[in-house]
Amino acid sequence: MSLKYEQFKNHLQKVGDLKYAANVLHWDQEVYMPKNGAGPRAQQLATLSGVIHELSTDKKLGDLLAELRTDSTLTFEQKRNVEDAFDKYTKNLRYDVSFVQEMSMAVSEAFQSWNKAKEASDFSMFAPHLEKLVKLKRQETEILGYTDHPYDALLDQFEPKAKTADITALFEDVKSVMVDFVKEIAACPQNDDAFMSAHYDKDDQWDFGIELLTQMGYDFDSGRQDVSSHPFTTNFSATDVRVTTRINENDLNEMIWSCIHEGGHALYEQGLPTEEYGLAGGEYLSLGVHESQSRLWENNVGRGKSYWKANYASLKAKFPEALGNVSFDQFYRGMNIVKPSLIRTNADELTYHFHIIIRFEIEKALIEGSVEVNDLPALWNAKYKEYLDIDVPSDAMGVLQDIHWAHGGFGYFPTYSIGSFYAAQFYATAKEEIPGLEAEIEAGNMKPLLAWLREKVHAHGRIYTADELCERITGSKLNFSHFMTYARAKYSELYAMAPVSQEA
Ligand SMILES: [Zn+2]
Repeated sequence: MSLKYEQFKNHLQKVGDLKYAANVLHWDQEVYMPKNGAGPRAQQLATLSGVIHELSTDKKLGDLLAELRTDSTLTFEQKRNVEDAFDKYTKNLRYDVSFVQEMSMAVSEAFQSWNKAKEASDFSMFAPHLEKLVKLKRQETEILGYTDHPYDALLDQFEPKAKTADITALFEDVKSVMVDFVKEIAACPQNDDAFMSAHYDKDDQWDFGIELLTQMGYDFDSGRQDVSSHPFTTNFSATDVRVTTRINENDLNEMIWSCIHEGGHALYEQGLPTEEYGLAGGEYLSLGVHESQSRLWENNVGRGKSYWKANYASLKAKFPEALGNVSFDQFYRGMNIVKPSLIRTNADELTYHFHIIIRFEIEKALIEGSVEVNDLPALWNAKYKEYLDIDVPSDAMGVLQDIHWAHGGFGYFPTYSIGSFYAAQFYATAKEEIPGLEAEIEAGNMKPLLAWLREKVHAHGRIYTADELCERITGSKLNFSHFMTYARAKYSELYAMAPVSQEA
């Protein structure tokens, strides 16, 4: 390894140390911190992020990058690590201190006002703060630069190299087939899931969740699970990846789906190459690809028949009162109910995408300046009526339900849907390449699937772009038809619909 590359690597590892140290503080804040710790903790995190910014824009790093970019002796992986770092370095340099401070002030005010507005269910309380944030975000698109659409600049922060035009086209595909498909389902006799809201003891749920994580291959020597109000995964290195879950004694869904979902995220982080710590090769590719891992486990595996053939007996043994009279078939149907609903985070795996499309269309319009903040509640409600045929009763259950905009997270939402579509495409290939995959899952053996994901996705960190990775794995770029093939096969059976031959 060249001396310059070694110096570059050491520099980025230091930045990594600080970033992961900040993650520890964030994790503690969500999981264990007493409420009086909030003030000093915010200060500690602000100081750390200042130091991270300094180190990330250090001239020494800039000089190293300039030399390494012309070094022809680097391997392909080293070149990609350098290019990724150069891209981040040049973007970091474009922010001046006053803009960063103004943004962070605007975000904290918007966040507080969003909390109050949501409690009062009154969008007008949040509107002036959101207006300010949108103005700053539009400024940020100019700072970062873009060639086609200003929203590209924001999208790129979560899904590098993704383009607004491609996402728009993708979502048009989704709408063109899924609106009718969901209507077809709604016209069929409906399944029942009342048993999911029977009483389920907290400790027994916890134990079952640990069983599921263990079976998936989550390594408890390189992580741990705790409880938090919003389940999440965070990492301090590939050998310390934390997950959290949420347990509701009157709704089994919360624990099961959060455990499997966060478990999927965590397996990705635990599978990243440890020797590439701090470099692109040691970090996740994009939020869409991260979400592909959580959703592949949650939906393609976790909501599948084989998975519950492996696990239903154990679940039933833990909760004989709640599930004693619930057959396997009833359970499987109950956990796969498709029904338009108001709240994104409770949506089923099909109607979920309308929640995302609505948010994408609105934030794209805000950033390009084609709608005003004050028009949002009416626009939101009209789109829920159009795509999901439901009436939104209040701002709290409508336009104010998500935290993302209050945090300044514009460009984040599409990654959730992209993740599901990648998941379906990857899983279709996994089924072709892993002999007897469904039978292995049915036997409770998740090892072949995990080994495949490790080799195809986890081992590469961010060395490839998402397009490149998807092509390497599946032979083509992201294509929504895989999701529809999966959805049609599964839900036609669940709802006893006539088989449809035409695909999207
Ligand atoms: Zn997720």
